[in-house]
Amino acid sequence: MEALIIATADAFDAMTDDRELTLKWKCDSCGYAPGNDERPDVCPQCGAQKRRTYRQPKTLDGAIDELRRGAGTQFHPAVVKAFLTMIERDGVKTDV
Ligand SMILES: [Zn+2]
Repeated sequence: MEALIIATADAFDAMTDDRELTLKWKCDSCGYAPGNDERPDVCPQCGAQKRRTYRQPKTLDGAIDELRRGAGTQFHPAVVKAFLTMIERDGVKTDV
């Protein structure tokens, strides 16, 4: 049961992970790094096109839907139920 709980929490964590968004943007062509949290599509210094390499994190609702969909297959339904009950009760802390 413990493993099932951890698997569910892990999956949820991965779904809502926004660590990539907190990484500082840096141009890999010239090394330019803006002093703020800017994420330009084109490097203002060398003009290199920057592909957005980070993926958009799923919304909380999206992650919850994903858990619901996986209940009974990917995740244990009782664990998902308890997890969602906990989220409803306590909310989710998005700050780390
Ligand atoms: Zn550059």
